Amino acid sequence: MDTASTAAAHDDVRTAPRALATEAVHAGRDDLARQGLHAPPIDLSTTYPSYDSRGEAARIDAFAATGADPDGPPVYGRLGNPTVARFETALARLEGTEAAVAFASGMAALSAVLLVRASMGLRHVVAVRPLYGCSDHLLTAGLLGSEVTWTDPAGISEALRPDTGLVIVESPANPTLAEVDLRAVAHACGSVPLLVDNTFATPVLQRPAEQGARLVLHSATKYLGGHGDVLAGVVACDEEFAGRLRQVRFATGGVLHPLAGYLLLRGLSTLPVRVRAASANAAELAHRLAADPRVAHVHYPRIGGAMVSFEIHGDPHEVIAGVRLITPAVSLGSVDTLIQHPASISHRIVDADDRRGAGVSDRLLRMSVGLEDVDDLWADLDQALERPQRGTGKCATSHDEPALTDTQLPLRR
Ligand SMILES: *Cc1c(COP(=O)(O)O)cnc(C)c1O
Repeated sequence: MDTASTAAAHDDVRTAPRALATEAVHAGRDDLARQGLHAPPIDLSTTYPSYDSRGEAARIDAFAATGADPDGPPVYGRLGNPTVARFETALARLEGTEAAVAFASGMAALSAVLLVRASMGLRHVVAVRPLYGCSDHLLTAGLLGSEVTWTDPAGISEALRPDTGLVIVESPANPTLAEVDLRAVAHACGSVPLLVDNTFATPVLQRPAEQGARLVLHSATKYLGGHGDVLAGVVACDEEFAGRLRQVRFATGGVLHPLAGYLLLRGLSTLPVRVRAASANAAELAHRLAADPRVAHVHYPRIGGAMVSFEIHGDPHEVIAGVRLITPAVSLGSVDTLIQHPASISHRIVDADDRRGAGVSDRLLRMSVGLEDVDDLWADLDQALERPQRGTGKCATSHDEPALTDTQLPLRR
């Protein structure tokens, strides 16, 4: 084959539809073999030399007009980075969107979306609780000049105003794992962009863009990175919105470090395997917890996943103090199992009444299930659940709360 037909053959392979598991290990890497590389290179440049300043001026003008990634090398690291761009390409493929834009954290990603809409004079946001605690706080405190109306999914269309720039939902939601019918919500939004925080489900279990979401947000710190060693955020969306996000990122500076971009691309390659294996562990633990008399209520999403939340009859602080194999820590989505008490940590910043109103009980524990052996995990949970039993018999938090009723654990699929 001559060079042109070889390149054409490569292009055919690139554009043929590929399964998620294949995209996870190949997307963002399609050019590597032709460059004689296997692992993606890490480009740590902060600036890029050019002897053609007329050409650079034209590229800066083009970026200012559309926010499209400049052709050729970036001018400056805050404008774009090739290693980060590989991760963005891969995540867009996994979510089924035209583009993705990476940020220094999930909160930087959400901030950029709010700033894009506010810069268009659309400062009003409609949101459904619960959301991740800091997302709730960012909206409630109006830190970026937005004004929020909280509602339930059925109230969205009524809450829309002429200046509504965004509707925000999480599904499954942090930390109750409540699920939202994304198709119905997207319909209720009409022409207002719907942002779905897909951090908990990952594109392995749910692709919100296929259900009508214009913006799919991830705290990539969680499952996408997957090993507890990268802080990052990303928005998957159409190219037009991506251009505006890149312009805001350039102007406000919440960029992702190239080394983080490398680790995220590496994390994506095992995402389907990790999510499926951890989900099987989580489903098994959810069943065992649901059958346990020390546990009042188990939350486990219909779509599955590696998160399990549960309310216990005793004092949840005792369980946190009692785990030995499971790590008592906030965050989620790592290869190892973490447990935390949302009312004390992840959702502490949310007003207590708002928090309880959103179903985040003071006796709720949230567990991010990892890849350990499920019997070892159960043995640790089992001994930690004994601690509240051995105590004074009083639950420090139970008097603030209405009695919890036992509810059936929804079966997975
Ligand atoms: C952690 C988290 C965030 C915030 O992401 P950071 O990377 O910590 O900034 C947003 N949404 C959800 C659902 C999260 O769990």
